Amino acid sequence: PARPLFAEQLPAGLQTISNIVAVSSCKGGVGKSTVAVNLAYTLADMGARVGIFDADVYGPSLPTMVSPENRLLEMNPEKRTIIPTEYLGVKLVSFGFAGQGRAIMRGPMVSGVINQLLTTTEWGELDYLIIDMPPGTGDIQLTLCQIVPLTAAVIVTTPQKLSFIDVAKGVRMFSKLKVPCVAVVENMCHFDADGKRYYPFGRGSGSQVVQQFGIPHLFDMPIRPTLSASGDSGMPEVVADPQGEASKIFQDLGVCV
Ligand code: ADP
Repeated sequence: PARPLFAEQLPAGLQTISNIVAVSSCKGGVGKSTVAVNLAYTLADMGARVGIFDADVYGPSLPTMVSPENRLLEMNPEKRTIIPTEYLGVKLVSFGFAGQGRAIMRGPMVSGVINQLLTTTEWGELDYLIIDMPPGTGDIQLTLCQIVPLTAAVIVTTPQKLSFIDVAKGVRMFSKLKVPCVAVVENMCHFDADGKRYYPFGRGSGSQVVQQFGIPHLFDMPIRPTLSASGDSGMPEVVADPQGEASKIFQDLGVCV
């Protein structure tokens, strides 16, 4: 809603987007892409017009997690713009759809390529653009956050004590940039077996984050074999099982952003 006020300062390609939400983590492998994709499809299910920008140049996950018919981005040669591909109504842009293998680039080059891909895409009218950020809080992330006026950030982490320090870094980066961190997702927090609940990574660092940094929402996402299976199958869990436990958590998260 605040977006039109800044419209003239926005890169042209982003002017038709109402909310840009970063899904961020400080380490790889904690479930950031899983959260980004399922959040996007939940918002779409709620009736929003949604796009996903997979900004992870080194390890783009989007091509595995969704299965669009067209797996290559198209160019509009006259306008010199990129046309996103689409799966189940959600617009998608990823380096994995750019037709190249794993990129070998230095930081400043990566930033340039990310920004170009993001801002020259014809996103059209969107209620939400979900950005699956590259992991970490280095220069690539900072540059991206400076160019894109983010509406909100969601931080994904695992419950280990060690992760707390990393999460704090992420929260500080967003707070410096005046981007509100609306939620922390503590992923892989527990699993149930033989009628018992197990906490393989310990407990408690999420509530510490919420207390210390005043983040309004904390979500516990259990380890769910179906969540990883659906990630590999190209159909997000919230699409495959809209009544499932994960879908309910993503609906609550969707309301926060
Ligand atoms: P990141 O984007 O942080 O690198 P991913 O979203 O790619 O992490 O997740 C890493 C792996 O863990 C993937 O194989 C994914 O399917 C799996 N995964 C993520 N979250 C869960 C979960 N809650 N339960 C089971 N598997 C998960």
